[in-house]
Amino acid sequence: MSNKENDCIFCKIIKGEIPCTKVYEDNDVLAFLDIKPVNPGHTLVIPKKHCENLLDCADKELNSVMKVVRELSNKIIKDGAGGVKVVCNNGQPAGQIVFHLHVHIIPF
Ligand code: 5GP
Ligand code: ZN
Repeated sequence: MSNKENDCIFCKIIKGEIPCTKVYEDNDVLAFLDIKPVNPGHTLVIPKKHCENLLDCADKELNSVMKVVRELSNKIIKDGAGGVKVVCNNGQPAGQIVFHLHVHIIPF
């Protein structure tokens, strides 16, 4: 494992070294609540295999992540949200702070 992955906060969450409020998990994908939610239910969906962002993510992992993003978005709306904002920041100038691909689902 590269240093990047060893130092990655989301890889630590995947390994259970840092706690999170888990929303969904399968072999390839983990979803958990954002520690600083924009709105209640603000969820992050990440691949278990480390990549930096959307730009370097392998097709297989990206497909798995986006399928879960859609499923959870539909669930959030079924549970009462009027809509969801789906956001992925790629690169520091675009607001990316954690360099492990994550898709935000923000309920409105
Ligand atoms: P970015 O700006 O990189 O798209 O967003 C990173 C997101 O990760 C932020 O919304 C931030 O609140 C969230 N975050 C950062 N560290 C942690 C953490 O340790 N646990 C959880 N649950 N969320 C985190
Ligand atoms: Zn990582």
